[in-house]
Amino acid sequence: MIFREQLKKAFLTEDAPTLKSISTELNITLDTVRNLQKINTKKLKYIQTVRSKFQSKKYIKKDGEKQLNPDFKFKNFAEFYFWYKIQPRKCFYCKTKEVILQDLYSQGTLSSERGNKRGKSLEIERKDSSNNEYSKKNCVLACYFCNNHKSDIISEDDHVQYFAKSINEYLTTMWKTSNKTLERNS
Ligand SMILES: [Zn+2]
Repeated sequence: MIFREQLKKAFLTEDAPTLKSISTELNITLDTVRNLQKINTKKLKYIQTVRSKFQSKKYIKKDGEKQLNPDFKFKNFAEFYFWYKIQPRKCFYCKTKEVILQDLYSQGTLSSERGNKRGKSLEIERKDSSNNEYSKKNCVLACYFCNNHKSDIISEDDHVQYFAKSINEYLTTMWKTSNKTLERNS
């Protein structure tokens, strides 16, 4: 069990570690690393997914070049990973669960004709728009609909008071209706 933790730590580096770096770090053979990778495929895939999110916020494209985002304040990938892992899997504003969003998209109830890829999963949202920081304090998970709607014009409080409930009602109703249809057709 302790070894698993060590392995995880070895993987919680900003760039995906090489087999060789893990073998050196944990002082084990390359074959052992390969085997451990096989056994832990699911977990490692999850770490990779979170790593992609981390990378996509830490860097910005400016003049066609990848640059450090000056507003990114997470200390390192490990801090980001553990922050992400404990976030409730529902929208901070409208409370819609991520599984509902995933269902709506996988069932095709919601889709974008223009190829908008957002919406399927919760997004990393900065609560305070006057402070653009990506940090443990300022970040929450929010659905695309709330994230897209909230702006520097509509405050967080106003969004929650006037819009969030409707967004939740809309998504939940769509989800219930589509599940009923699926049940009927199966
Ligand atoms: Zn929402």
